[in-house]
Amino acid sequence: MLTTRLANGWVQAKVPLPFSLRWVNAYLAGNGGKWAVIDPGLRTEETEAFWERTLRELGIAWKDIDSIVLTHHHPDHYGLAGLFQERTGAPVWISETSAAWAERMWGEVETFSGELLAALARHGFPDELAEGMRAHLAGVKRQVAPRPRELALLPEPGERFRLAGLSWEPIAGEGHAPGHRALYEPESGVMVCGDQVLPRITPNIAWLPGGDPDPLGSYIRSLEGMLGLRVSLALPGHMDPFADFDGRLRELIAHHERRLAQIADLLDEAGPLTGFELCDRLFSERIRGNSHNHRFAMSETIAHAERLVFAGTAAVADAAGHSPVRYRKA
Ligand SMILES: [Zn+2]
Repeated sequence: MLTTRLANGWVQAKVPLPFSLRWVNAYLAGNGGKWAVIDPGLRTEETEAFWERTLRELGIAWKDIDSIVLTHHHPDHYGLAGLFQERTGAPVWISETSAAWAERMWGEVETFSGELLAALARHGFPDELAEGMRAHLAGVKRQVAPRPRELALLPEPGERFRLAGLSWEPIAGEGHAPGHRALYEPESGVMVCGDQVLPRITPNIAWLPGGDPDPLGSYIRSLEGMLGLRVSLALPGHMDPFADFDGRLRELIAHHERRLAQIADLLDEAGPLTGFELCDRLFSERIRGNSHNHRFAMSETIAHAERLVFAGTAAVADAAGHSPVRYRKA
């Protein structure tokens, strides 16, 4: 079943993805015959066909869609926004920071991939793997085209946002993607999570050049900030809706604490190590020959190592700016 009618009347659509996550959730929120689409998915021939079929089955015409909402700029959420806008004329809502990162990453993919590869090289990523990653990133360009033209900016946290006849609080959450916004509706207890909180899998923590220097610290603070919210239905960007939001926040925090302890031990036993060497020890089997997974694993590893540096548990072995950067136990 590729669509599910949810308890609040919305529709969850499992939009197919050509990588290991298998699908991204788009949510369709109806109100008086009009529909908002949250995170329509990556653009591929398969997803275009998916949406033609799904909208027909749901009895929704393109003209019935009056808003497109993006939790963040990652291609599996943002990729189809421009095509949806062409077909519907609807505004694309996104945070100002996410919009700027979409421009940086997908406006000039070659420039961004050059900056990313230079940064990864400083963390020991070998030249012979760089070409595969460059080619992979270049391939993303067609999965986010056409890019949406007219962006409507989601309000800043603290202000309200109307969606499907209800008043929502945008919740800022750094660590996975700069400018990420979850959407929370306190009266019904619905939380649109984006990728900030996922069941069963841990969201990737993204260290990126020119981004947050301590994304894992920001991520954990964002989870702690959501503890205690009354959530009856959590709608994640991947996997299925779930109820125990607070429990999942605690599991994610505990996961990263264990991971940090594991990395501190590795640095103690085998350090100093580069980000690449640490990544290999942590993820070896899952990243071999897969540039997509390798990029996420490197980003995640550096985010953890930098968190340890910020916490004073680890240090950069040679602080004189030598390349590659090696981490050691402090
Ligand atoms: Zn994401």
